[in-house]
Amino acid sequence: MKEFSTEKAPDISRSQVDIPKSRRLPNGFSDPVSFTCTCPASSSPDGGQVLLFYRYFAASPALPNTQVSQENLTSLESFHTNLTQKHSIGGKIRIAQEGFNITVGGTKESIFAYTQACIAHWSFSNLDLDTAQKQREFFKPTPGGCSCVFGGAPASVRVTAEITPMGVTNYLPSSWDSIEVLTPEEFHERCHAEPNTLLLDVRNHYESRIGYFVDPRTGEPALRPQIRRFSQWPQYVNRRMVGEEKGERQILTFCTGGIRCEKGARFLQERTGDRVATLKGGIAGYLMWMDEEIEQGRKRPEESLFKGRNFVFDARGSTTLEEDDKIEPVAKCHVCTNSSDRLGKCRSKGCHLVLVVCAACELSDDPRCCQSCLDMDVLAQADGNPDTNSRSRPICSCEKEREANLWGEYVKLPKQQKTRKGTRKGLRDGVNMNIQVQSLDSSMGIPNELKAAFGVNVQAT
Ligand SMILES: [Zn+2]
Ligand SMILES: [Zn+2]
Ligand SMILES: [Zn+2]
Ligand SMILES: [Zn+2]
Repeated sequence: MKEFSTEKAPDISRSQVDIPKSRRLPNGFSDPVSFTCTCPASSSPDGGQVLLFYRYFAASPALPNTQVSQENLTSLESFHTNLTQKHSIGGKIRIAQEGFNITVGGTKESIFAYTQACIAHWSFSNLDLDTAQKQREFFKPTPGGCSCVFGGAPASVRVTAEITPMGVTNYLPSSWDSIEVLTPEEFHERCHAEPNTLLLDVRNHYESRIGYFVDPRTGEPALRPQIRRFSQWPQYVNRRMVGEEKGERQILTFCTGGIRCEKGARFLQERTGDRVATLKGGIAGYLMWMDEEIEQGRKRPEESLFKGRNFVFDARGSTTLEEDDKIEPVAKCHVCTNSSDRLGKCRSKGCHLVLVVCAACELSDDPRCCQSCLDMDVLAQADGNPDTNSRSRPICSCEKEREANLWGEYVKLPKQQKTRKGTRKGLRDGVNMNIQVQSLDSSMGIPNELKAAFGVNVQAT
């Protein structure tokens, strides 16, 4: 059954849900990292649920007609707006010509109703979702959250240029079939079986800090690039992954729910020529599979190759296996260095760096990412201007250091092309591509000083 929504709904999603730019954390990250449930999920015996799913229309199994018109996009936007309003669902829904990227939360009943309406919609056609198991694998429901983890209903629904910006304008894989897509079970087996395999985390540095895959043959954690945003991935690949080992190794990539690997892993394969395989459904899919294995008595929690917790971009902060009492933190408190995986952030105005801060330090201390970040606050206070907005704030030393370690030096843009939405051609590695500077925009959660470090013009436009 197909359903084409044509009804135009009033767009109340934008103004009510969005956080002012100056307060924004990394895109989509809820502030604070904890929440109080005030919705019906708190009184429902089933509690709430959060979904994490996406689709690239051109990826297999493709939409029958992958030429999605502007009218189609508008209708898809209305469809989700109406549906999330009707069922009091909160979250973030991004729709583009290339597909959709969705994370939503609500009561278990409302989430079920939402998924069933989605399955009947044209944007879901050709996806094989005829059993409860297949639906679970696609929507990847996790407990412990509801609309409150997104600041309440309704969801923020928006049509965008890309569903997860990688920072390369108009990048599309030359083929969607250039990499292997492994089920969690295949991924798990492959980690044990093949020599000369590199596990590679596609996520940002603050995500991979509290949880990662470990190579079962060496006990070594996956390679975790210290990037701050996915838009730094192409540069990371070009600078750090392209090299002598070309074609001789196998790279296994993973991310939170699989979407970043869709373009990220194919880009990596194209640039390196390596054999690349990716984890279908990401860490969320793997943990769901592992939970079932444990429930069926086929595996023990300690056999999970994913150690720690899966960072999520909602106020839950992270998720993990159902038997979470057996999960040891893999990170340390930024302040006292005790073992912890509790998320907090730097308290300096305009910094927002995500840190691991144990409960005791959160209460009794004043967590800052580094001394220079604190100094800047003290200086601003002394100037009688404690609310110094982030636009004039220099980048702090720890961020400077991380970027320097990551690149060896700052990535600078040619002066004459310093425009906010400008592009430049040809990275210093001789790659001829357009890097979309817009992805470093403050609207995406990057402080202007970090942009300045990249040589991006921070003048207001
Ligand atoms: Zn709630
Ligand atoms: Zn501590
Ligand atoms: Zn800071
Ligand atoms: Zn710092």
